[in-house]
Amino acid sequence: MILIVDDNESNLFSLKKLLESKDFQVDTANSGEAALVKALKKDYALIILDVQMPDMDGFEVAETLAGYSKTKDIPIIFLSAVNTEKKFITKGYASGGKDYVTKPVDPEILLLKVKTFYNLQEKNIAMKKAHQSLELEVKGRRESQVTMKSQIDHFHLMMESLPQIAFTLNEDGIIDSVNAKWHQYSYSEENFPETHPDDPDIKEEYTRCRQKGKAMELETRIKNIDSNEFRYHLLRMTPVNEEGTIKKWVGTFTDIDDQKKIEKEKDEFLSIASHELKTPLTSIKAYVQLLDRKLKLDAQSAEAGYMHKVQDQIEKLNNLITDLLDVSKIENGKLKINKKPTNLENVIQNAIETILQTHDEDKVRIDRHGIKPDILIPLDEVRIEQVLINFLTNAIKYSPKNNQVIVTTFVDEDEGEVKVNVTDFGIGIPDFKQDAVFNKFYRVEESSLQFQGMGIGLFICSEIIHQHHGTIGVSSILNEGSTFYFTLPLN
Ligand code: ADP
Repeated sequence: MILIVDDNESNLFSLKKLLESKDFQVDTANSGEAALVKALKKDYALIILDVQMPDMDGFEVAETLAGYSKTKDIPIIFLSAVNTEKKFITKGYASGGKDYVTKPVDPEILLLKVKTFYNLQEKNIAMKKAHQSLELEVKGRRESQVTMKSQIDHFHLMMESLPQIAFTLNEDGIIDSVNAKWHQYSYSEENFPETHPDDPDIKEEYTRCRQKGKAMELETRIKNIDSNEFRYHLLRMTPVNEEGTIKKWVGTFTDIDDQKKIEKEKDEFLSIASHELKTPLTSIKAYVQLLDRKLKLDAQSAEAGYMHKVQDQIEKLNNLITDLLDVSKIENGKLKINKKPTNLENVIQNAIETILQTHDEDKVRIDRHGIKPDILIPLDEVRIEQVLINFLTNAIKYSPKNNQVIVTTFVDEDEGEVKVNVTDFGIGIPDFKQDAVFNKFYRVEESSLQFQGMGIGLFICSEIIHQHHGTIGVSSILNEGSTFYFTLPLN
């Protein structure tokens, strides 16, 4: 917008019309004072200033405008009818004016000058704005650099204060930062620590997980540089996702060597104890059977009842010891599976019969649902029956108020597998504990006092099913019941 300042109304009017006819936006002031007030309030690209005005003349106005930062850069064209002498023109320039037009105004000259100044000023303003926004950007960048640095410092502090070996990898799977503890196990920041020859190669395992985009967990022995000792570590590597793509991997090695040693000692003790217990128990079992046959007790007598109870308890003890032996076999990688083409339906029926024989009829009801898999599947009959007996025993044990158990089978030709469900209507398992029931010695705390057990049955089942390349799992609702299932490949 252009401001015209003149005490003569008709001059104001004609100049305004002239400029408006060329599409300029125009404002007017009829005195120097009014011009100052307006110039401080609004933004003008140019001021056309009459030199001769009463009270405050044009030069004074120009000088005052030059004193304010808001107005000091506005170009001014002085208008004067009389003072065309050189000294007045010089005064006009010295006081901040940029050009000088004499009255009577030649419209063409004035318009030419106005256009030139106007365009110049527009460019000036645009440049100023660009400069300001550049300054803002520089400031913003500086601030974000400071924030980034403090975040990096914070990140390094966290890495260093961790009790574990910690490291990160970039999206290409290349190690890009490690903490100081890393150097106790690796000579370089580019390479993973050396693993025990019997343990899986970390890089290979990681490449596999990276392809799937899945977190990895691995127990492995890595070599300490100073002592040359291989120590067990739990390696965890987790992908960090941003907008659906993996941007980073965060990894830790946690030293679990002491824990592993204690676990090994416990496993060895269990193995020795169960072996040592098994031999005398087998003798006891044989002698009790012999005694039972020799005594030929009347089935209704109290003695026969006692004999029965003794045999029951021996059987329970035998099962416990067998389970413990199985656990130590699993630990030593000696649980062998002998697969033969077998009719799964026969295995299911045998398991159900065994359960019915060993439980009171009025306490148990086992229903059979689904398509009976009358096909031959490669499996270890004894071990799969063991899994089914375990599922069924648990279904009865953990359902004190309901005696119904359902065994359902599904054959999925497309997936090439058969699925067996054992459903009960018992106490159920809380959501977040369902995966853990397959862990060694795990028992659900809430029910552990009410029901006897050692927490190893499902661990053994899980190992047996995994050795058959099948899957095992549970779905359960607390106080409503559980369905334990396993799948086996058809081939
Ligand atoms: P145990 O029954 O000897 O404790 P298992 O390994 O067979 O050991 O089972 C582990 C745990 O899983 C049990 O202690 C129990 O808490 C839970 N569990 C297993 N089966 C069931 C079931 N059918 N209903 C509810 N909880 C169950």
